[in-house]
Amino acid sequence: MRRAFFSLGSNLGDRGALLRAGVHAVRDGDDARVSRVYVTEPVGGVAQPDFWNLVVEVATAAPPRELLARAQRAEAEAGRVRDVRWGPRTLDVDVVWIDGYASDDPDLTVPHPRAFARAFVLVPWRELAPDLVSDADVASAGGAVALLGTLDDV
Ligand code: ADP
Ligand code: MG
Repeated sequence: MRRAFFSLGSNLGDRGALLRAGVHAVRDGDDARVSRVYVTEPVGGVAQPDFWNLVVEVATAAPPRELLARAQRAEAEAGRVRDVRWGPRTLDVDVVWIDGYASDDPDLTVPHPRAFARAFVLVPWRELAPDLVSDADVASAGGAVALLGTLDDV
């Protein structure tokens, strides 16, 4: 068994429900811990809802490819409730980190190459894994995040 971390983000539809469904999908029966939910303002000037972001830790025996498959299944399931044709994604799921595993395969790059540049990944991840994410990592990342609450309450 080892730890793996997924980053989940949603900015379309019922973001709380989509995140809860996403957590269920990436767990796939494994024991899990879930960070609190953080709000991130989209950048780029296009009017769209704020992102809600969280990180999930699973204790798993699943191989890395299976973890990527879980992430893609979670996105596909969320896509079924998409309500506008060319809108922001209902759910983005990235594999951020797998203990003892590194890969530069374009289909599965781990650690995720942009995780340490994104406050919306690092802040919730640090809640679960202060051994992996330092305050200095958070301070040097881009973007502001605001605490929304626990997933059960949003
Ligand atoms: P973003 O990098 O902004 O999350 P996408 O979600 O559109 O962009 O990227 C999806 C693609 O990224 C998929 O083809 C997937 O195979 C690939 N990919 C590479 N590394 C990872 C990873 N660690 N987690 C999830 N997808 C990954
Ligand atoms: Mg992604």
